[in-house]
Amino acid sequence: MRVRNKPWADTLIADNEKAIVLEPAQYRGHWQDRFASQQPLHVEVGTGKGQFLIGMAKAHPELNFVGIELQKSVLAAALKTSLPEELTNLQWVLADGQGIENFFEPREVAKLYLNFSDPWPKTRHEKRRLTSKTFLASYSAVLGNGGNIQFKTDNRHLFEYSIMSMAAFGLDLRELSLDLHTDVAASEGQLENIETEYEQKFAAKGQPIYRLVARIPE
Ligand code: SAM
Repeated sequence: MRVRNKPWADTLIADNEKAIVLEPAQYRGHWQDRFASQQPLHVEVGTGKGQFLIGMAKAHPELNFVGIELQKSVLAAALKTSLPEELTNLQWVLADGQGIENFFEPREVAKLYLNFSDPWPKTRHEKRRLTSKTFLASYSAVLGNGGNIQFKTDNRHLFEYSIMSMAAFGLDLRELSLDLHTDVAASEGQLENIETEYEQKFAAKGQPIYRLVARIPE
């Protein structure tokens, strides 16, 4: 996701420290202090402009949400959109998700979302893919046994890679869909799908959306 530098981003972030965290390691083991209610914590890595997590926070007041994004201008856009909603179950984190095990204690996170992660198609960039082995190890550390990772993408190659990577890591793959939007329509309201910004863009072009849920074994 490319965005222009936003001159107002620094001020907006500085003025809203109740909604955004710049040093997430400080809250390791204490994330519930950032929310109005103590309830299960769901985390998105690579949250972009926040459309998915704002939708989730509105649809699920019984859950707490943290969105991690490494680009300041992108996260500032998420913050700007979320502020008028006054969501007491949503926090933003400006950081690289690569360090996630330093941000959360083991089992502090109940579910993790990866939505339309950058594909990094070149083999030499494999380590940057958010479903590569090193990232999966970090996610496992914060989720603990029984925790779930939900992954959505339009990119068939990244989806195939991720299935192989997750299976090799020993995750249980479930809820696989090769055409999520058709499956959601056929489910007559049984299958929830909050759409992300990228998802809407790709779906509008007629591209199928792939989705899976991977579980850390008990
Ligand atoms: N999830 C959003 C969506 O579906 O609309 C945004 C998708 S965009 C293609 C990927 C986003 O992930 C970008 O905003 C990028 O900056 C962010 N990102 C990539 N690697 C990251 C990392 N290691 N930690 C945090 N964010 C990351």
